[in-house]
Amino acid sequence: MTEPRAEVADALRDLAATLRHHRDLGVRELTLPREPFPAPPGPASALREQEAARQGCQLCKLCASRSRVVFGSGSPNARLMVIGEGPGEEEDKQGKPFVGRAGQLLTKMLESVGFDRERDAYIANVVKCRPERNRNPEPDEVAACQPFLLAQIDTVQPHVILAMGNFAVQTLLGTKEGITRLRGKAYTFRSIVLVPTYHPAFLLRNPGPEFRRQAWDDLKLARREHQRLSGGEG
Ligand code: URA
Repeated sequence: MTEPRAEVADALRDLAATLRHHRDLGVRELTLPREPFPAPPGPASALREQEAARQGCQLCKLCASRSRVVFGSGSPNARLMVIGEGPGEEEDKQGKPFVGRAGQLLTKMLESVGFDRERDAYIANVVKCRPERNRNPEPDEVAACQPFLLAQIDTVQPHVILAMGNFAVQTLLGTKEGITRLRGKAYTFRSIVLVPTYHPAFLLRNPGPEFRRQAWDDLKLARREHQRLSGGEG
């Protein structure tokens, strides 16, 4: 294999020879295209491309139970990313994450600490297709979808991830510890602050004030981390 430094040196020597040749021919000015090195696509178009590439996905058996791939929604420039488990019935119908009853509660939870879900958050799930009867996704399904979630995270580059519920938190942190033990503090996932909290569907089933107060504490923690890391920009 050629040494990269030698390759660059060869290329520069060729370029110098070409420029000398043009000068000898009388060329006095070079017109370059306005943008010789076009900027890489921004997060919005990168996410659109990733979403388009997943249409018709057959990498795991969830393709049999879904009607739509539910890729993600919200702001591609958000500094907060919300990650849930997988689409439910309503999400599967609409093609958007967190739009059923749990999603409506999520919207209110975010609003309670000043986040607007469309403006301030990007929302996605561990798996992009609905498991039948909303069962937990299986390890092979999580593994098949993992590169797409990681690509979303790397594209959005959030400062804070709010991980909703046992399944998402355990998957992201690679632990079997339960959410009641894990919540209440911040972790690091791929150099990003990760705040675990209860899944809104759990809060709908267990509406005790204690759980709701703890979830609110978690949201306030996510808000503080977001403010600290975004230098007051949001
Ligand atoms: N539950 C989730 O985890 N994600 C959704 O998108 C909807 C419900």
